[in-house]
Amino acid sequence: MAMKEFKAESKRLLDMMINSIYTHKEIFLRELISNSSDAIDKIYYKELTDDSLTFNKENYYIKVIVNNENRTLKVADTGIGMTKDELENNLGIIAQSGSLVFKEENEMKDGYDIIGQFGVGFYSAFMVSEVVTVISRALGSDKAYKWESKGAEGYTIEECDKDSVGTDIILKIKENTEEEKYDEYLEVHKLKSVIKKYSDFIRYPIKMDITQSRLKEGTEDEYESVTEEQVVNSMVPIWRKNKKELTSEDYENFYSEKHYGFDKPLQHIHISADGMVRYDAILFIPENIPFDYYTKEYEKGLELYSSSVLIMNKCQDLLPDYFSFVKGMVDSEDLSLNISREMLQHDRQLKLIAKNIKNKIKSELQNLLKNQREKYEKFYNSFGRQLKYGVYDQFGSNKDLLKDLLMFYSSKEKKLVTLDEYVSRMSEEQKYIYYASGETNEKIEKSPQIELVSEKGYEVLYFTDDIDEFAIKVLTTYKEKEFKSVSSGDLGIEAEENESKADAEDKENKELFEKMKEILGDKVKDVRVSKRLKQHPVCLANDGEVSIEMEKILSSMPSNQNIQADKILEINSNHGVFKSLKDSYGKDDEKLNLYTNLLYNQALLIEGLPIDDPVEFSNNICKIMG
Ligand code: ADP
Repeated sequence: MAMKEFKAESKRLLDMMINSIYTHKEIFLRELISNSSDAIDKIYYKELTDDSLTFNKENYYIKVIVNNENRTLKVADTGIGMTKDELENNLGIIAQSGSLVFKEENEMKDGYDIIGQFGVGFYSAFMVSEVVTVISRALGSDKAYKWESKGAEGYTIEECDKDSVGTDIILKIKENTEEEKYDEYLEVHKLKSVIKKYSDFIRYPIKMDITQSRLKEGTEDEYESVTEEQVVNSMVPIWRKNKKELTSEDYENFYSEKHYGFDKPLQHIHISADGMVRYDAILFIPENIPFDYYTKEYEKGLELYSSSVLIMNKCQDLLPDYFSFVKGMVDSEDLSLNISREMLQHDRQLKLIAKNIKNKIKSELQNLLKNQREKYEKFYNSFGRQLKYGVYDQFGSNKDLLKDLLMFYSSKEKKLVTLDEYVSRMSEEQKYIYYASGETNEKIEKSPQIELVSEKGYEVLYFTDDIDEFAIKVLTTYKEKEFKSVSSGDLGIEAEENESKADAEDKENKELFEKMKEILGDKVKDVRVSKRLKQHPVCLANDGEVSIEMEKILSSMPSNQNIQADKILEINSNHGVFKSLKDSYGKDDEKLNLYTNLLYNQALLIEGLPIDDPVEFSNNICKIMG
């Protein structure tokens, strides 16, 4: 029989699996049982919804069988089985190539549970096996096939006999080595405890033949060993259990069993709702950003069960986009099994559940913020961007729900603060919530525009995310306080000498500024004396809706429509450069031209904007140096 090769990616994964130094090899059993349970879910669902099939709950089970003589461990199920094509396609290639790439990139990290964290499933069998044999008969087929592989070099496939529909996975367990004891995977008690640990809530019975010694009937001290078939798991799905009886470890096991994420969940939410609509749900907020989260590939959604039968893997309608990071499942008796995707969208019950879930997530996040600040900040560092996106999205229709969850870095506190905290610290005379945009906190801290507001002692929020300013434009106010960029024309800071002095100087130097405007053409809307600069010679300020930071973001987008901020060149009249400008005006046009261009380019550089002609700029600097 010809040996077939695995697809290249699968081969690499297999190599990794076989040679892995992974310590929790026992999870292979969890993976196989989980596949069996999925396969039974599929046949169960078919038989429940297809009248031509007969349904008998007794028929559904998983059996784990040890054969010490042959050193084999068998996981047999009465699930939907696989056709020849399915055996080839499902077991010959790896679906999640993305996770493979991620894994390779992260392989060097110390103590990182790489393999166990991923849904590599079936392949994990090779961690403990010399040979893996899969015998399967698909529902509706009278033929069965045997797939067999010793690992990376390939697999064989041939027809064989099997009496009933379902799948047997037979592992030929490796011999013990110096470092690794494989024998324990042939010990019934070890296997039983592994099943209890990871697969207790599987909804179908997991059966094992357990041998126990028992007092012989009619005797007082004679023992006999009796082998009995026992159901090892409790079968109550975790979401049906009483919260009080569950530990964080139970939830964590469920999270990895379900392959919701490769991390540990940051927080779980267990809901048992009994109101207008009845449902149970277990939701998780992951600790880390899934590797594909901010890509098109990421699909939000929760698993949807109807009376404990899985009817949909990713029900998108259950989660709003701004909470798309939430993982988990919902089970409701009030949904029909036969419901189609289209019908679900209009289902009233489902809408109620979705609304309920949304509110629960929000209040859980608020609790975290209030009571477990550090944990919340961890969450916010991963997913805060999504919340801000939520404020902006849909024309701001969700801004009120989300605004209290927002945080920004504060110039005063040097850490993330909420808007509520900011507003509660505002002095009576402070009119606005000030913010400054830039690439990093360090850059913002040094920016000239921030000088006056900081000197006034006002707190400034630093916006370093693309979305920040867009979100704030949609929010417009918080607790009736308007947001104000430190680079905006009018800062709303009390008129002082400074202000009237600047106005007077503006008038005095009207012609100089007109001339400078002429030199710069349509690059700036205005040139004027700055009211905000203390040390720096120049800066750019802006009028109008589009800020300089927004211009940068918009111009980096693929759909660049060349949207420009209205820029104003502000000059510090207390700085030496101002005198030089005044001195050259009317006397030396060339010099004025040179200075104006230099100052403008300098302002661009400070702002992090590209200058039109770097070579000319550098030549000009040389020119003034003599
Ligand atoms: P995953 O379970 O994450 O999809 P696996 O590598 O564990 O990845 O399994 C690949 C596929 O093989 C499954 O999606 C399923 O279609 C099929 N499969 C695995 N085990 C069984 C089984 N016991 N019965 C039926 N199909 C199975």
